[in-house]
Amino acid sequence: MNAFLPYLKYLRPFRFHFWMAMLAGVVFAVSSGFSLPMMADKVFPKLFGDGQQMDGVTVALVAMGIPLVFAVRAISGFFNVYLINYCGVRVLEAIRLKFFSKILDVEPGYFSNSRTGDLVSRMSADTALVQLTLTEAANDLIRQPLTLLAAVSFLIYKSVSDQQFAFIFLCLLVVPACVFPVRALGKRLFRKAKQQQVEQGDVSNLMTEAVSGAREIRIFRAEASFLERFQRKVADLLHSQMRVIRYFHMLSPSIEVISSAGVSMAFVVAYMQGITLETFMPLLFALYMSYEPIKKIGVLSSRFHRGKAALERLEEITNYAVSICEPGPDRAVALERAQGEIVFKDVSFAYGQEPTLEGVSFRIRPGEKIAVVGPSGAGKSTLIQLIPRFYDPASGSVEIDGKDVRDLSFEDLRRNIAIVLQEPVLFAGTFEDNIRLGKPDATTEQVEEAARKAHIHEFIVSLPMGYKTEAGERGTQLSGGQRQRIALARAFLKDAPILIMDEATSALDSESEEKIQLALSSLFEHVTGIMIAHRFSSIRFVDRVLVLDKGRLVASGTHTELMESCSLYRKLYLNQAGTDDATPEALRAK
Ligand code: ATP
Repeated sequence: MNAFLPYLKYLRPFRFHFWMAMLAGVVFAVSSGFSLPMMADKVFPKLFGDGQQMDGVTVALVAMGIPLVFAVRAISGFFNVYLINYCGVRVLEAIRLKFFSKILDVEPGYFSNSRTGDLVSRMSADTALVQLTLTEAANDLIRQPLTLLAAVSFLIYKSVSDQQFAFIFLCLLVVPACVFPVRALGKRLFRKAKQQQVEQGDVSNLMTEAVSGAREIRIFRAEASFLERFQRKVADLLHSQMRVIRYFHMLSPSIEVISSAGVSMAFVVAYMQGITLETFMPLLFALYMSYEPIKKIGVLSSRFHRGKAALERLEEITNYAVSICEPGPDRAVALERAQGEIVFKDVSFAYGQEPTLEGVSFRIRPGEKIAVVGPSGAGKSTLIQLIPRFYDPASGSVEIDGKDVRDLSFEDLRRNIAIVLQEPVLFAGTFEDNIRLGKPDATTEQVEEAARKAHIHEFIVSLPMGYKTEAGERGTQLSGGQRQRIALARAFLKDAPILIMDEATSALDSESEEKIQLALSSLFEHVTGIMIAHRFSSIRFVDRVLVLDKGRLVASGTHTELMESCSLYRKLYLNQAGTDDATPEALRAK
């Protein structure tokens, strides 16, 4: 329960609903815990006890008391549950939003250390469990403790007025006796529920892997081993699910047994003290009315234990301290439209212990076009990711127009940069929506213009639904080259002064490649461009090439200069060209 208390702050906008729910809960509790035993106390003796004749109207009025109390109880019970459920789902909405905004806030590098399936499972299965806890618990959260209070109050009132103190004692004895199973089972339940949610995450992971790695699994004939792994994970999950069910459902019967012992002791006390049925009935009623809430409060605590396990997993994400943060408004330096000068000053960076970049320094003039080349694993992708602050250097600095990128707001920094990644992601929505990502308020004409410049317009209009085609719909799945051209269209539309391009490594058909290179040359025209060049034919668009090797900048110059002065560059070029002909003419022909 305590784990959920910090979330009460989200109820502030719904204070009215919450207090009305409390009020309805009080009415429900008084009508259940106090009025029902009171009816038993006042009505039964009138009807059966004192032997006085009553006229029909009095009998009817007395008898009507019972449905009246039940009607008040039913109406107040409904409003209590309805309103408190409303508060519960609003709290859940806040938790979901907090989780999702954290997913949008964390540095992209965070996801390379986490598993997609597990994150999806936290977002779906764990929030569903928290929802279940909040909505199920909401039903009893106010009503049961208040009903217990009302019933105990009646018991005290009646026991004192009838001098039957043994009943108070009995009631008070049963409460601590019930605490033992609640605590013991609760602890186990929490541990198992946590394990169950972790295993649920593992199952989700395997599912996402089976979908995203569908081709690899088939070509390497890994179906049987995946199925076997899945069966094992599902069996583990089933095992812990059954444990959770066991502990969850053991509690209620345990409390029932303990409280039935209390009731039987009440019979013994009543017999030994010669209590009349008239006196005994309301006391028994009140005793029952106190045991019922005790049982339900016990179950409520189990629900909270189960929900806490899920909440903790959500909090592992929501409480994660984002390592790449914006400067505070007092520290932020403004950058309108950048000129496009980029300077790396003695930049070093490491993902773990081993350095990935070491002492990298260079300057790119505004409007200059640069290609970065180097062997696989040299640190090219890492280098470009430091500019939009997907990562921060461990030492040294990256500057745009003389301003350290760490001093710029994300808005000022990222507004000035367009990126085209190796395998651009298309989101659910139409092609138009996907291109518009570059500029959400762009007109349809601007979207089409950008698509034309990216040489993807003709393909889009050739589809029956044109720009309204769903990007992910079956049959309209795009080739790698088409995806990159959509990403180029986004970049055209964004019209940022700095363009970062990570060329596709996968082989593109010559038509696609030709179109991309045409688009790239016009996109590069008015910007500062940095391209990770996997194909040397792309180098013809750039003014200068940086050569990276094992995280160090080993050379910088034009293609011709590097062919003469840099053996690594020459080797890389000749490896790809498969020829010794490295003349500029041969290069242009590539
Ligand atoms: P390629 O041409 O093959 O794409 P690259 O030159 O772009 O390679 P990077 O992707 O920058 O190289 O990787 C540089 C080094 O950093 C590699 O040794 C790689 O294993 C490591 N690395 C890259 N990303 C991560 C990561 N998220 N976590 C840990 N290590 C990483």
